[in-house]
Amino acid sequence: MVSLPLVTTTDSESTGPRKNHLLNWSLDQLKDWLQEQGQKPFRAKQIRRWLFSGRATSFEEMTDLPAKLRAQLEEHFAIFNATEAVVSKSKDGTEKILVRLADGGEVECVLLRDGPRRSICVSSQVGCAMGCVFCASGLDGVDRNLTGGEILEQMLRLQQRLPADERLSHIVMMGMGEPLANLPGVLSALDVARSEDGLGISPRRITISTVGLPPAIDKLAAAGIPYNLAVSLHAPNDELRSELVPVNRKIGIEPVLQAADRYFHASGRRLTFEYVLLGGINDGDEHARQLSQILRGRSVMMNVIPYNPVAGLPYRTPSGAAIARFRAILESAGVNVNFRQRKGDEINAACGQLRRNRGELKATK
Ligand code: SAH
Repeated sequence: MVSLPLVTTTDSESTGPRKNHLLNWSLDQLKDWLQEQGQKPFRAKQIRRWLFSGRATSFEEMTDLPAKLRAQLEEHFAIFNATEAVVSKSKDGTEKILVRLADGGEVECVLLRDGPRRSICVSSQVGCAMGCVFCASGLDGVDRNLTGGEILEQMLRLQQRLPADERLSHIVMMGMGEPLANLPGVLSALDVARSEDGLGISPRRITISTVGLPPAIDKLAAAGIPYNLAVSLHAPNDELRSELVPVNRKIGIEPVLQAADRYFHASGRRLTFEYVLLGGINDGDEHARQLSQILRGRSVMMNVIPYNPVAGLPYRTPSGAAIARFRAILESAGVNVNFRQRKGDEINAACGQLRRNRGELKATK
C-alpha cells in the first residue's frame, strides 16, 4: 500500500523460563515482596522511579540499589516481557511500534510529535470485538485483553524513543481494542501513568476513546478520575450507525449520548465525539445537519477524522470539497469542530493497519 522511509525488524527469540512482568505489580505488591526478600519496602518507590523517570530497561542500571537486591530482582522479574516486531518512523516524526507480546499476540502503539506535544496512542486489547466495518483492528475479532503491565510497557517503550530532555505529555487510549471492554487493565495502567512516581501525566491530558458502552461509561465515571472521554459516533442516526458500528444495534445512539452526558456531569470534562468521514457514506449535507441536531445543547468538541484507507476494505477518504462542506455545515450550526490532521499515514498509523500490513512492511525493508 505505502512505502516506508525506515523500517527495522527486531524480532528476537526469548530464552529461559518466563519471569514475572514487573509492570503488572502494584506498589503494595512490590513492597510485600521486598519485605519477604529481607529488603526495605521504600525501595519499591525507588524502583518505580528508575522505571518511569529513569527510563531504566535493566536492573543493573539501578545503581543506588544494593547489589543483592538487583540480583534478586533480576532473578524474579522482567521489566519488559514483549519484543518490538516492527518499528517504523515517518517524516513528520511519528513513530510506530508493533509490539509482540509474550504469547505471540501483536498490538500497535504510536508516538506523535506535534509542536511541544509528545502524545502517545496505546492499545488496550489484542484485536477488537466491536466490529466497526471500516477499522482494521477488528477484522479478525478480539483475542484477549491486555494486562495493565502490557499497556504500561507500550508507554515506556514509546517514552524511550524520546531524547532525555523530552517528556511524554498526552496519552490517548485510541490504539487497538475497546478500552471500556478492558476497564481493569486500562484503569490500572492509567493509575500508574498519572501518579507522581509513575509518568506524572495529569488525567486532563489522558483521553479514553470508546465506541460507547453505557454501563462501562458509568463505571468509568464512578472511578472518579477526570479523564477525557471521546465517544466514536461516526453516524448521526441509528440506521447508519448500526451499519458502520454493529454494536450500536444493541445500544442505540440516544443511550450513548445520555451516558456521555452523565460522564460530563460527573467528571466536569468537556466531551469529545469522533466522526470518521467515509466518502459517499456518512459525509453528506444531510448527515452534517442531523449531526448538528443531535449535538444541539451539548457543549462538546467534534473531532472529524478523514478516513485513513485500509487495504482490502471498500471505504475511501472524501474529497477535499466534501470535507470542507461538511465542516461548513457543522460550523454554521455552532458546533465546535476540529478537523484532525492525518499524521503518520505513510506508516499505517490508523489503528490495526500495521499489524495487518506487516508482511508488506518487512518486504519493503
Ligand atoms: N474502540 C475505541 C478506540 C478505537 S481507535 C473507539 O471505538 O473509540 C480510535 C478511533 O479511530 C475510533 O474513533 C475509530 O473508529 C477510528 N478509526 C478506526 N479506523 C480508522 C481509519 N482507518 N481511519 C480513521 N479513523 C479510524
